[in-house]
Amino acid sequence: MKFCPKCGTLMQPRRINGINYLVCPKCGYKEEVSSSQPTYKVANKIKHTVREKSIVIENDKIPETLPKLKDVVYCPKCGHNEVYYWTMQTRAADEPPTRFYKCAKCGYVWREYE
Ligand SMILES: [Zn+2]
Ligand SMILES: [Zn+2]
Repeated sequence: MKFCPKCGTLMQPRRINGINYLVCPKCGYKEEVSSSQPTYKVANKIKHTVREKSIVIENDKIPETLPKLKDVVYCPKCGHNEVYYWTMQTRAADEPPTRFYKCAKCGYVWREYE
């Protein structure tokens, strides 16, 4: 509970770009919440997710012969029912490898989200 030092309105907690702020709903005054809450871990997790989302898969990293799935996974881009799949170590070595899919029709590549 904190009141705005400018206008005295009760401040509202907000999360902007992974940082916690207290924002005044009346005049817009905002201040960063630095102490008490374990913000570090959460911020770290967000960073991790952003990095994973931006993974670029180069074609030469995709194995030549891939097992094919039919009517199990559908291409999110064109809706085709046949996809190739493989796994790749994208994170730390002690974490399980990530499964990737490649559309047999349009060649779109995406990763499996658990
Ligand atoms: Zn205010
Ligand atoms: Zn496709």
